[in-house]
Amino acid sequence: MSADHPQPAQALRIAVVGAGSSGLLLTLLLQRQGHHVELFERSPRLRSEGCGILLVRSGVEAIAAAGIPGLLDALLAAGRPVQQFVIRNLRGDLIETSPAEREPGELPSLLIRRQAILEALWRHADPGSFRGGAELEHWQQDGAGVAARFSNGQRWQGDLLIGADGLFSRVAPLLAPQRRLHYLGDRVWRGVVADGQVLGPGDFLVVARGRGVYANAFDLGPEDPAAGGAPITHWGFFQEEPLPTSRAEQRRLLQEPVPEQALAKIPADLARLIRATPPGRVVANWSFDIEPLPQLVAGRVALIGDAGHAMSSSQARGMTAGLEDAVGLARHLAGGCGVGGGDPQEALAAYEAERLPVVHRYQERSRAISARTGRIRAPQQQAVAAR
Ligand SMILES: Cc1cc2nc3c(=O)[nH]c(=O)nc-3n(C[C@H](O)[C@H](O)[C@H](O)COP(=O)(O)OP(=O)(O)OC[C@H]3O[C@@H](n4cnc5c(N)ncnc54)[C@H](O)[C@@H]3O)c2cc1C
Repeated sequence: MSADHPQPAQALRIAVVGAGSSGLLLTLLLQRQGHHVELFERSPRLRSEGCGILLVRSGVEAIAAAGIPGLLDALLAAGRPVQQFVIRNLRGDLIETSPAEREPGELPSLLIRRQAILEALWRHADPGSFRGGAELEHWQQDGAGVAARFSNGQRWQGDLLIGADGLFSRVAPLLAPQRRLHYLGDRVWRGVVADGQVLGPGDFLVVARGRGVYANAFDLGPEDPAAGGAPITHWGFFQEEPLPTSRAEQRRLLQEPVPEQALAKIPADLARLIRATPPGRVVANWSFDIEPLPQLVAGRVALIGDAGHAMSSSQARGMTAGLEDAVGLARHLAGGCGVGGGDPQEALAAYEAERLPVVHRYQERSRAISARTGRIRAPQQQAVAAR
């Protein structure tokens, strides 16, 4: 803990499992409240790979609400406000253009690299709390506390454990045994590439779904906003296909580039951009969400982010929802138990009461939009996913 962090009357020992955007924001908020936080992450180092993100206004507002000096400014400097949404059909014809509406004084929705978000959060966290190479294997709790065991032999004991370990969470199944992954029907590739031709500043382009494919792209501004330079573009390409039953085959297919016959279905300028992307700047995954869970909390253990409510990317809400969780949970932990010495389990219960209806709404809307935009759904193909 750094010297400028206050020491609360009752500093709790808290394990946060998972150093994605949700876990990092929660960690640094709890550190600033003076709790003893350890951040356990499966990867040896902070995982900052990934592509672009549309951080919708409520996500930017969550960062503002976190009240960490300099954090909001860092994100605003690294991202591009969305200027307009452009919808084209598979032939490339313009269907619709709509400006991103924004009242005077309102924060923008941001087009931003995931890496920029994680690095900005990391700069504000205490690096001494990071436990890399520690994959959670098991946790258990009793009236006195929580204990956790990690793949590298590390053991931890404390007051609260927070699962921020994403879609393939190891914390969640013990808390909510009914949690299942549901395949949404697409193999997805995302990439970033230097290009200033296809999109204008602040453009978010959608190529309407058809013939078994869907694509989008958005402007990310210069690679290094401080130094300027050529703009980079994020793209996403979704191909409808069954999920292979073999995990080895799932992994093998994620190493493939976007198939040429699929690229031939989308407008030529976007296909060219995808072909021009260096393989090292492409990530691929199978699309999953989870059913809304009946709870986010059990006693001293809570879920935040994708661990608690992974949803389809159709509404661009996933990261925002996790940031909101982190701010909400930290607020409840600051309220009674830190300074006033209240019961931390009551703080977790209050977090759940506040967030469960909100994240259920997000999940339901994301599913409804996925269904409307024609994504196939294959619920029988659940729980066989390779990471
Ligand atoms: C194709 C696609 C497009 C998307 N686009 C958007 C978008 O435009 N806008 C948006 O808001 N959201 C978007 N999302 C969703 C967004 O990326 C996620 O909701 C968000 O990154 C989740 O953050 P998280 O911190 O909860 O989980 P993660 O980012 O998944 O972090 C989890 C961390 O936990 C670690 N971990 C996992 N298991 C263990 C373990 N057992 N022990 C220790 N550590 C572990 C992982 O290594 C990882 O670092 C998109 C998602 C996809 C798939």
